[in-house]
Amino acid sequence: MVSVMVKVAPAYEVLIGKDILKSAGTLMKNVRPIGKCAVITDTNVEKLYLERVLSSLKEAGFDPHAYAFSAGEEHKTMETLTDILDFMSEIPLTRSDFVVALGGGVTGDMAGFAAGVYMRGIPFIQIPTTFLAAVDSSVGGKTAVDLKNGKNLAGLFHQPSLVITDIDTFKTLTPENYACGCAESIKMGVISDPELFSIFETGDPSTYEIEIVRRAVQAKADIVQRDEKEAGDRKLLNLGHTYGHSVEKLSRFTLPHGHAVAVGLAMAARAAEKMGDMDANTKERILKTLEKNNLPVALEFDAREIYQSSLNDKKMAGSSLSIIVPNEIGRCEIRKIPAKEFEKYIELGMQ
Ligand code: NAD
Repeated sequence: MVSVMVKVAPAYEVLIGKDILKSAGTLMKNVRPIGKCAVITDTNVEKLYLERVLSSLKEAGFDPHAYAFSAGEEHKTMETLTDILDFMSEIPLTRSDFVVALGGGVTGDMAGFAAGVYMRGIPFIQIPTTFLAAVDSSVGGKTAVDLKNGKNLAGLFHQPSLVITDIDTFKTLTPENYACGCAESIKMGVISDPELFSIFETGDPSTYEIEIVRRAVQAKADIVQRDEKEAGDRKLLNLGHTYGHSVEKLSRFTLPHGHAVAVGLAMAARAAEKMGDMDANTKERILKTLEKNNLPVALEFDAREIYQSSLNDKKMAGSSLSIIVPNEIGRCEIRKIPAKEFEKYIELGMQ
């Protein structure tokens, strides 16, 4: 088992290993006193891993109560959040109890949000079961639900007390879902870790999963520690996301998040090359690496549609927008542009 410390206040540990779900309860005893907890999961993960986690919590002396919501991004809503909060209050959870998020990014974002608002905030622990959640969403404390006008429009910052990642859970992911984790990791490599990028460029990621999760989490932690609430550098983590969220919304969420990020990253690379911010060879390396890892680099939407769909994005600040421009593998810059100019970047990103 390896560990990464996320040094925010209070600091927390991300534990990454094989077959560690069965020890989840013991690991939690190091950060939480014995008591009640709500284990929030979705209907797919419930069938696969809930029993193992509940047994381990009971063996460690905790009193776990499980709630499974219908799986899928379309259920990442205020309605589901209300159901989770009602469930927590029926147990009833108190301020000395905690929440466990067992699942992918949708579960982590909603269970974290519920923990953040329940009784004005109680602790929560992340057990990510998708590759994407392990390398990205389980760390950093962003929680949210989608509103009808856009993704993640309601939410808060609430850091977990512990993250437990068992890479064995990736074995049951569909190839499409596995690729989503590759997309967020490749993104992280382009932002700040050329060695992480090269695993995807030249190697077989399935043989380096612990190393990938460790590197991606460390890279994210380094940024989050500098800028927890996204006043500056944390915006770098949005590389590909302004384009990505727009195509995700246009697809009515039929496109998985990681695939949308891949298309967004490809668009950011093409636009950067056309604008003279990145050389042609680096752009090609990014596109080829995405394709090698079963990710899309283009979709059928037109530039106007993507631009219209981006107008509700959180990254808009008044009439301006911060976009992340990749310069080379491992270095990106934050560029504030007039919102109207984004359409030009989208057009360049599609050619
Ligand atoms: P998800 O949670 O919907 O999981 C994808 C699918 O895989 C679901 O059907 C789920 O039931 C299933 N699943 C989960 N674990 C499984 C397993 N081990 N085996 C088989 N099936 C499994 O989605 P995701 O791709 O994990 O995460 C995407 C979400 O994460 C988006 O809502 C996105 O906005 C969010 N996100 C948040 C952050 C953040 O910083 N908070 C960062 C990136 C993404």
